[in-house]
Amino acid sequence: MKKIEHIGIAVKDIEKSNTLFSALFGKNEYKIEEVISEGVKTSFFKCGPNKIELLEATNSNSAIAKFIEKKGEGIHHIAFAVKDIKQEITRLQKKGFTILNSTPKRGADNKLVAFLHPKSTNGVLIELCQEIE
Ligand code: ZN
Repeated sequence: MKKIEHIGIAVKDIEKSNTLFSALFGKNEYKIEEVISEGVKTSFFKCGPNKIELLEATNSNSAIAKFIEKKGEGIHHIAFAVKDIKQEITRLQKKGFTILNSTPKRGADNKLVAFLHPKSTNGVLIELCQEIE
C-alpha cells in the first residue's frame, strides 16, 4: 500500500455538508460525482496533500444509508492507494482478510476499488483503490 488516498465520511445531506466542509477548508469541493451502482452521491475536497470524500445515500438500500441508520453520520472508511489492486487483494486474502468484493469495481474519482470487511480490520472499513489509467 502506498498511502492514505482519502477518508470517506457518511453524511445525510451532501449539499449542507459541502457548505460546511467548504467553510472548514476555505475552498469548495473539486468534484461531485454520483456512483449509481453504489447508490451514492459523493463530493471530494482537497486539504493540502489529503483528500476527503463525502458520501450521501441516494437510495435506502445503499451501504451509506444502512451505515447512517446504524451508526449515524461520521467516518465511514479509510482508503489506501495501491499500485496493483488485484495483486493486493490476493495478498490480503492469503493473510486471512475478508475482502467484500474480490473483483475490483469502479468507484468514484476514476478508481478501481475493493473493500475489506471491518470484521477483519478492527472495525474499520478499508478501501483499496487503484487509479484507472
Ligand atoms: Zn472512498
